[in-house]
Formats: sequence, C-alpha cells, structure tokens
Amino acid sequence: MRHLSCPACGNRVFFENYACLACGTQFAFSPRTGQMAPLFGDNAILACANRQQYACNWTSDDGEPMCRSCRLDSVIPNLSFAGNLERWRKIEQAKRRVVYDFIRLGLPIEPRGPGNQSGLTFQFLSANLTVAPVMTGHDSGLITLDIAEADDAVREHRRTEMLEPYRTLVGHFRHELAHYFFERLVLPSSDIQACRAVFGDERADYQQALQIHYRGGAPPDWGLHFISAYASAHPYEDWAETFAHFVHIVATMDTALDLGFGGEPSQAISDPYTTEDFEALIKAFLPITEKVNEINRSMGQPDMYPFVLSDEVKGKLHFIHMIVAKNSRTHAGNMRTPEVAA
Ligand SMILES: [Zn+2]
Ligand SMILES: [Zn+2]
Ligand SMILES: [Zn+2]
Repeated sequence: MRHLSCPACGNRVFFENYACLACGTQFAFSPRTGQMAPLFGDNAILACANRQQYACNWTSDDGEPMCRSCRLDSVIPNLSFAGNLERWRKIEQAKRRVVYDFIRLGLPIEPRGPGNQSGLTFQFLSANLTVAPVMTGHDSGLITLDIAEADDAVREHRRTEMLEPYRTLVGHFRHELAHYFFERLVLPSSDIQACRAVFGDERADYQQALQIHYRGGAPPDWGLHFISAYASAHPYEDWAETFAHFVHIVATMDTALDLGFGGEPSQAISDPYTTEDFEALIKAFLPITEKVNEINRSMGQPDMYPFVLSDEVKGKLHFIHMIVAKNSRTHAGNMRTPEVAA
C-alpha cells in the first residue's frame, strides 16, 4: 500500500481513514486515482452509498451509488442481527484492500451483471440463518464467505483446529479470488497445459482428494513442494494457496518499499504489483519477512509471515507471476491505461 495524504492539508492518512485527524477534512479513497478525494468544496467527489453505515470509505463509481468494491456484493449480512454491522465493516475493509491489490495488478475485477457473466459476485452468509453449513469458497465467480470469519475468536479457533499458521479475512479473499482467476484466465487459455505441469492436473477428483487430506493430513515432506499443508490436498488448492501468496508478497513489498524498508525502491521493483523482475521481488521480500518476524517475536506476537519458500514453491510463484503479467492491463508492455496512478 502506497502512503496516502489528506487532500486538504497533506497530512499522512491511512487506507481505512474517513477523515483527516489534523484538519477534519472528510474524504474518500478513489480507486481511479489511488488518492483520497475530498467530499466537500472544490473537486468534491461523491462517496460510496455504504459510507452512511461507515462500512465503506471509497468513492462512488461510474455514476453508480456504490464503489467498485461494494458493487461486487450480492448478499450482505443481515444487519438487524446484533454484531453483524461490525462483522460486515471488517469484511468490507479486508475486501477493499484485496480489490485494491487486483486493481494494481491490472486483473479484471468487475461485478457480474447482464453484460458481464464472467464477472464476480460476493455473498456474506451466516450459519445462523441458513439450513446448510456455510462453506467459504468460490463457485464460477460467486465467492461465499462465512461471516463468522470476522469474529477473531471464531477465526482463531478454526485456525488452530485446522493447524493453519495463518488465517485472515484478507487471506480468504486472496485465496478465493485465486480460484476465480484460475477459471477465468488459465482454464480457457493455452497456459492450462503448462499450469498442469507446474501444479498438477486439477481434474483429479476434488472431493476424494480433500477427504484423503483431512483424514491423513499432508505428506511429511510437503514443505519441499508446497507453500502450505492445505496446498498439498489438490492441484486446485495448490494454485489458490500459491496465488494468494503471490498477492501477499506484492502487497507487503509495496508497503515495505513505500515505508523505506529494504532500501531504496530499485529500478527492478519500483512497483511490486507490475514488476517484470520476479527474482528481484523475492530477493527483496525474504529479508523483510525475517526482520518483521523477529520484530513481532519481540512483542510476543506471531510471525508476520510464518512460511518458508522452497525452490519448488518459488518456481510456482514465478509461474503465477508470468500468468498475472500476461493478463494484466497495467503491466509494462501493455497499452491499456493504469487505473491506479503510479
Ligand atoms: Zn488534513
Ligand atoms: Zn463502497
Ligand atoms: Zn480453495
């Protein structure tokens, strides 16, 4: 995340802010310019309709009342239930961060509609209100999230129960969008053969693979071949887990470089989201994780990045980098206009 400034006084503000603490100016984030825009006065811009409930701090989009992120929702939590407004705010906050990632990556992140059947839609469901259990997952552009994942206690309980080192709302969104982009960008393209050579054949029986994984666990040497134990369950999950990590890496590097960690932004990685240089990206990322992990331990906090990248995993990440670059509208060499200004 690049640093943001108050449009009136220039004070540093953050992605989640609605107003400037220094001068009181009300603003909203414009995904079109990548800047905060004022809501009043000259150059005033319209806020997303979900701002009323403080569920969103983005600008409205294309004459629509809602922003680019909120327009992706088809089902939001039932706000008449206690706690759901707070859960929804947390969910939307994480989703905006991830929508921002994909805008910066230049990948298509548009609402599903009559003219766009390959678009995306999100539904946020509660197990209290459905007959069947709510499964967080992706199905042909429909991303479902169990809103209980917004409760820290519930999410942490599930994380430890499933022996996961990392479980966050941002991580869920990056993972499920990875499934979407596999279906949208890789499956219909000639890259599918190469993808199967790298990740395995995703046509292998999925339910059976998951049953075997949950019954017997990951193979003991999974760390040599996979980014996570869950990635070893099935090629489809290996792709999604690895793709999510590619986004973790570019998003973290973007923030780190902006904050001046890891030295001056080099020529090779002036923009981690669109850099051509995968090797430079990984080389810059790993020392930062070592340092921040150590800082976290000093505070008794879990590691920021509790993962090890084996050579095989780096190869998989490199393949994903290639797929993203090929399909990006903001990537160098592509003629389409960037939506978030550099
Ligand atoms: Zn200000
Ligand atoms: Zn919004
Ligand atoms: Zn998955």
